[in-house]
Amino acid sequence: MEVLDKKFVSLNNLMTKLRKKKCPPEGLLLIFPHCTQNSKCKQNIKHDLNECKRCGKCKVKDLLEVSEEYGISIAVASGGRIALKRVMAEEVQGVVAIACEKELRVGLMAAMPKAIVAVPNLRPHGYCVDTDVYLDDVLKAVKWFTRGYTKDS
Ligand code: SF4
Repeated sequence: MEVLDKKFVSLNNLMTKLRKKKCPPEGLLLIFPHCTQNSKCKQNIKHDLNECKRCGKCKVKDLLEVSEEYGISIAVASGGRIALKRVMAEEVQGVVAIACEKELRVGLMAAMPKAIVAVPNLRPHGYCVDTDVYLDDVLKAVKWFTRGYTKDS
């Protein structure tokens, strides 16, 4: 199944690229799973992302910095239904979604036809704990969506 999930994610990203979707920074949402947070961190980022003290022990700090640098919205996916509601909000024109391939496939299917670039996470400690992500992949997706609107494009 994992192979199929990976294929689905790749196909989705290809389709999104073919649609040549662009969006202004304020219309772009970066969403990431709660397991990105260091499991020893006591900050309640699910309640409020500003709780992150930006210690650098996990990528939450970096993702917050990306959102600030590009002026895009950011959210932590604390549950499938809440995440979907956020993604489907009318003001959201494009989404950069980080998660494992299975969660991405389920979310992509539910959110169709919303324009989403899916970024599979890294799982050096297994699923759902202390996950990581290549920041370059996130930046590439953010720059692609906001091309023509930002200084990088
Ligand atoms: S960067 Fe530090 S404070 Fe922020 S969520 Fe990660 S471990 Fe917690």
